[in-house]
Amino acid sequence: MSIDFTLTPELEEIRLRVRAFINDVVKPGEARIGDPDEIDRDEYIRILFGMRNQAREAGLWLPHMPEEWGGMGLGHVELAMVQAEAAKAYYGPFILNCQAPDEGNMHTLLHWATDEQKEKYLRPLCEGMAMSCFAMTELEVAGSDPTLIRTTAIQDGEEWVINGHKWFISNARRASFAILVARTEDDPDLPQAANTAFLVDIPSEGWNRVREVETMHGGTGHSEIVIEDLRVPAANMLGGRGQGHLLGQYRLGPARLAHCMRWISQAETALDMMVDRSLNRYAHGSLLAEKQGIQWMIADSTMELYQSKLMVLHAAYRIDHGLDFKSEVSMAKHFVANMLGRVIDRSIQVHGALGYSTDTPLAHMYQHARWARFADGADEVHQMRIAQRTIAAYRDTGTTKVATGDLPI
Ligand SMILES: Cc1cc2nc3c(=O)[nH]c(=O)nc-3n(C[C@H](O)[C@H](O)[C@H](O)COP(=O)(O)OP(=O)(O)OC[C@H]3O[C@@H](n4cnc5c(N)ncnc54)[C@H](O)[C@@H]3O)c2cc1C
Repeated sequence: MSIDFTLTPELEEIRLRVRAFINDVVKPGEARIGDPDEIDRDEYIRILFGMRNQAREAGLWLPHMPEEWGGMGLGHVELAMVQAEAAKAYYGPFILNCQAPDEGNMHTLLHWATDEQKEKYLRPLCEGMAMSCFAMTELEVAGSDPTLIRTTAIQDGEEWVINGHKWFISNARRASFAILVARTEDDPDLPQAANTAFLVDIPSEGWNRVREVETMHGGTGHSEIVIEDLRVPAANMLGGRGQGHLLGQYRLGPARLAHCMRWISQAETALDMMVDRSLNRYAHGSLLAEKQGIQWMIADSTMELYQSKLMVLHAAYRIDHGLDFKSEVSMAKHFVANMLGRVIDRSIQVHGALGYSTDTPLAHMYQHARWARFADGADEVHQMRIAQRTIAAYRDTGTTKVATGDLPI
């Protein structure tokens, strides 16, 4: 077995090209956009799609997709480098067409869709001609437990009739289709086999967008949807009957890890800023960087960021090698989500009032970071699953070793 963290020259070249593209194209584009609520809408679209065209021309498009779909054909370990570089700019992942939720939906369609479904739904996503959403969470029941889903799909000849209520559906207002999860089975053998996924065209009669949910970081496109007698052709079922949960789990593995890759990038920015500020701020006879209290914050953040990178790389390695990755992705998702909040918080602390102001990106990053601890699996649900697997490992093998990454130490 070899453990080698050196990148191949090809991958290093890609990483540097992504970095240069983010610095030379995306960051200046973002500066031109400024506040998206202030800029003229047509100009906004022109800048964004102009940058997307440049990314395509530069061969920095769809890093997560195979080459036959127009992508860069990277594995998950390789993707970790690219996502981390792309997320150095707010619009970076969108410009490279590897942003949530489209990225996870593309993986899902690639794995689960029929050839016809791929042509109709995956192709336009890959070409950057469409956007998508994933509709699972409901206001009335705990999103953490999809066996409680109440939205129903009832078969009527060659169609399914769907009724229900979804909310927090990211991107729904821009999407041309949804992957929607609904209950189709009344009495499944397993509670997890009650749900089925469907591809729903947007707009469709019966798909009613009620409002955009305002959040602590503003109204960024999370919709509440009421679904009334929405008719979907049988051919739009995605995966098999009762496989909605399985599909959700499949989707969430790589999608959670891709979030972690982007969060690492954000945390690194916060740590860079923390160090920079501490080297330039003087109080009580020395620079902040010379004070032990500040050094502890820098050291804790450094260690946590290092742990995060190793966890993400190892989980990505397991996905790439076809190994079971559920625990490793759960542990990475939980750890990185919490690390992100802590590192940004410390950086704000070191910046004092400046950190609390909106003169630096930290306040915005802090508001954004909070969702990481419950979206795509709340902390406690990941902890529950991690503990279950650790207990099972001990029961089955007499040691917890296999549950701690199954590493050879
Ligand atoms: C910004 C954002 C974007 C989102 N985008 C989408 C999207 O595109 N599509 C979509 O379908 N959903 C989306 N969601 C919803 C998200 O997936 C849910 O918030 C998540 O699944 C948790 O469900 P819930 O909010 O109903 O919380 P609940 O399930 O009600 O959980 C609330 C809290 O209860 C606790 N809890 C739950 N279960 C346990 C347990 N077993 N043990 C101990 N404590 C527990 C946890 O602390 C948890 O935070 C988004 C959410 C946010 C904030």
